[in-house]
Amino acid sequence: MDTHVLNNEQDNPVSAEEQIKLLKDQHLKGHFGANSIVKALKGQGYRWKNMYIDALTITQELSLNHYLMSQ
Ligand SMILES: [Zn+2]
Repeated sequence: MDTHVLNNEQDNPVSAEEQIKLLKDQHLKGHFGANSIVKALKGQGYRWKNMYIDALTITQELSLNHYLMSQ
């Protein structure tokens, strides 16, 4: 049993901190939604478990920030 093979979905491993930065940076490129963010990051070779859920959380958080700042 080779655990490396089981984990080969993770072709570009990033730390939790980096994941948040990547998601935020990607969102700020055009205030993209979770689908666009995940698609763009996967295109760059990034993928991790629950990536879409993380993207959704970040976009909701940032959208709320934008809204509060516009008040
Ligand atoms: Zn935004």
